[in-house]
Amino acid sequence: MVIAKAWALKKHFDGFPKTSDFDLKKIELPNLKDGGEQKLLLESVFLSVDPYMRPYSRRIMKEGDIMIGTQVARIVESKNPAFTVGAFVVADRGWRTHFISDGKDLRLLPSSWPESLPKSLALGTVGMPGLTAYFGLLEVCKMKPGETVLVNAAAGAVGSVVGQLAKIGGCKVVGCAGSDDKVAYLKKIGFDEVFNYKTVKSLDEALRKASPDGYDCFFDNVGGEFASVAINQMKKYGRIAVCGAISQYNDSVPQKGPYVQMPMIFKELQMEGFLVSRWNNRREEGLQALLKWVVEGKVKCHEQVTEGFENMPMAFIGMLKGENLGKAVVKV
Ligand code: NDP
Repeated sequence: MVIAKAWALKKHFDGFPKTSDFDLKKIELPNLKDGGEQKLLLESVFLSVDPYMRPYSRRIMKEGDIMIGTQVARIVESKNPAFTVGAFVVADRGWRTHFISDGKDLRLLPSSWPESLPKSLALGTVGMPGLTAYFGLLEVCKMKPGETVLVNAAAGAVGSVVGQLAKIGGCKVVGCAGSDDKVAYLKKIGFDEVFNYKTVKSLDEALRKASPDGYDCFFDNVGGEFASVAINQMKKYGRIAVCGAISQYNDSVPQKGPYVQMPMIFKELQMEGFLVSRWNNRREEGLQALLKWVVEGKVKCHEQVTEGFENMPMAFIGMLKGENLGKAVVKV
């Protein structure tokens, strides 16, 4: 018999999450039975901490539920011939060290995954955040070669891929991030213009200096004040992909305008919110494209790895504070 450890939401977050909002639980797992539904025992190897957990905790969870989330897991025991012991899969089973599955909710890593490539990338560049960048840029921003693309939270899981895919697509890329180390990293991986939004005197001036002609595409991960300033620097017929609003997730009192209608009308902008799940039926296409670029070295990946399952709340809180460069993951 296996005892799994799992992190539960003890108390709904009020403002910025605190470690006391979480509870570490022990869950006894039943033994696998021949012929039963529960045919696989898995252990989590890497777990993802993502911004969406903050707003979704309020939308879909109740206090006491196990925290939602995705892991790369290894099959430890199998009574299902489709899954061999030792194989790695991606599962959406929340913050748990072990779990039991009938196999229907598991996704095998792409068969062309090279042995030398860290499997944790299936939670980042070659996973949901990479797909968000891919579909957001191609389908929502509809970027074209020669255009200028702006992305914020640029050194994070989604943003770092957005910038690199825009470069592959022949665009000029402007990114911003919250530390000088992040700025240096973004320059190293090929962003054309980068600035630290926390230290510039004027966001408006920094955006104007980075692209005096304005922006064709804006991939917005942040929302709030940044988006309100950036929208005024869009070019006519510009496209804004509203991907995330991390600057608002921890607000107890909703922020107020400025409002978007005037620039939207006079610049004839398109602004579209999206969830990456819209393209679940094209997941394979996206993952294959991302994997190819990573293997060819055209897309670079950085991960912020926190060691130890017991540190999951800290890793989550650290990511919300901006402590991560690239994708924040926890190694069990
Ligand atoms: P990141 O890896 O980018 O981590 C979050 C980053 O956000 C931090 O590192 C920090 O970077 C930045 N940040 C935190 N607070 C603020 C703030 N108040 N103002 C500006 N920046 C802030 O996360 P992801 O790449 O996973 O996600 C990025 C965004 O994309 C999030 O908003 C997320 O919700 C959204 N998303 C949306 C999806 C969809 O389907 N629509 C799917 C996946 C993600 P810094 O140091 O630069 O401040």
